[in-house]
Amino acid sequence: MILTQTTHMPKIMTQNGISSRRSLFLDNLLDMAVFICSVLTMNKPSWNKQWQAVIDLLQQQLPKQKFDAWINPIEVKKVDNSLYVSGSSYFFINGLKADCGAIFEAAIHSVFGQNIVIKYEVNSTKVEQISKPKDIPSHIDGNVDPRFTFENFIVGSSNEFSFAACQAVAEKPGDSYNPLYLHGGVGLGKTHLIHAISNHLAQKPNMKIAYRTGERFTNELIKAIGTRSTDQFRENYRKVDVLIVDDVQFIAGKTSTQEEFFHTFNALHEIHKQIILVSDRNPHDMSHLEERLRSRFNWGLVADIQPPDLETRLAILASKAELAGITLDQDVSYLLASRITNNVRELEGALTRLTAFSHFIKKSINIEMAKSVLREQLHVVVRSITIEDIQKKVAEYYGIAPKEMKSSRRSRNIAFPRQVAMYASKELTPSSLPEIGEAFGGRDHTTVLYAHRKINDNREKDKAFNDEINHLLTSLRG
Ligand code: ADP
Ligand code: MG
Repeated sequence: MILTQTTHMPKIMTQNGISSRRSLFLDNLLDMAVFICSVLTMNKPSWNKQWQAVIDLLQQQLPKQKFDAWINPIEVKKVDNSLYVSGSSYFFINGLKADCGAIFEAAIHSVFGQNIVIKYEVNSTKVEQISKPKDIPSHIDGNVDPRFTFENFIVGSSNEFSFAACQAVAEKPGDSYNPLYLHGGVGLGKTHLIHAISNHLAQKPNMKIAYRTGERFTNELIKAIGTRSTDQFRENYRKVDVLIVDDVQFIAGKTSTQEEFFHTFNALHEIHKQIILVSDRNPHDMSHLEERLRSRFNWGLVADIQPPDLETRLAILASKAELAGITLDQDVSYLLASRITNNVRELEGALTRLTAFSHFIKKSINIEMAKSVLREQLHVVVRSITIEDIQKKVAEYYGIAPKEMKSSRRSRNIAFPRQVAMYASKELTPSSLPEIGEAFGGRDHTTVLYAHRKINDNREKDKAFNDEINHLLTSLRG
């Protein structure tokens, strides 16, 4: 936009055009700007100068009072052959037209020529048009438990990374970690965390959250195919701001579900809508997952949850007891937390049983009661298997010496049973990959990971081998 020469009535540049209002404060600044602009626009026809001529004319023809009332407040803008005159309201525009419209338009025509078209408009309409749409309350489509929140999730070293990632996504969905892929064993708090994300997001406005299990997603799709309403199915998912799929491993191996999910994923990801996926294993270990989905699952952030350490288990137990309104003696807490090691759901289940029993017999919980009520559960865990037991039994099963589990020999008849033992150790004990590696002659954790993946793949490809491993695992569990 070009500023006009300001002889009688300096003009202030506004967003919409030129206001006739004068400001002493801006005079100097304007003079400088006018100078720069006039240099820049030299030899170009300037409508601003013509507008100034109109102002000069009107000042001569209108009493000062009318000029101040109707001409000072307007803003003008020239687009092609039209001159837009805007005022603050319809009332103002009508007043201008009624009070001095004829003189006003004649002055414009005499300067711009008869062909100029004068268009009146109201500033405030534009303001209204661009005003923000009203906030609407958020909505969760799916079964989300309102009791699962970030506040009642106990954080320890086994889950702090996943917890932080979930909080970041809940704060700024679609922003940085997309998709967020969370994986870990059964009962370790994955579902709790993603429900916490949903509950947190639901407190913000304008959030459409869809929460599905892989199974429900699949069933909905099958139904939609049956009723020829896949377009509607698609449409529903593409309108959401956040899509959460729990137990996504369920869709692996299901061709049309994967195909549909792939397109939904792309459509949402493209427009920066948040996708959160939860699984019992990491994307690499989902053998029947299509490659293109596997690669997408790795696009954002992959975070895992490990079984909690003793301190975290004790803290979880204390928090659950408090929520249930009961007090646990230290020795009871310790008994439970030290025996039930790799599944928080089981720990919670033990507490629920104990609480129910104490209510039934109307006695407070003590260590004897815990030992007797949870006899079976604690017994199983007492006999929980160690890596050494596994090494011994697997060596025996394959007819090799137990010391070969730690040796550096790599011949297949030794290396394979060793890989099976590593696999079983990962499946049956709460030990971490580095701990397992250490127990197998100080091997690196990546060796354990490789062994685990390999045995997993073989199990999925070869039914007889799968049966054999199942048999072995059952006998190891005792
Ligand atoms: P997953 O989905 O991993 O199988 P869940 O999220 O269903 O496990 O968790 C099982 C139970 O354990 C839930 O009741 C959950 O509240 C509880 N839980 C797991 N981890 C924690 C934790 N760190 N703090 C509090 N509760 C937890
Ligand atoms: Mg779950």
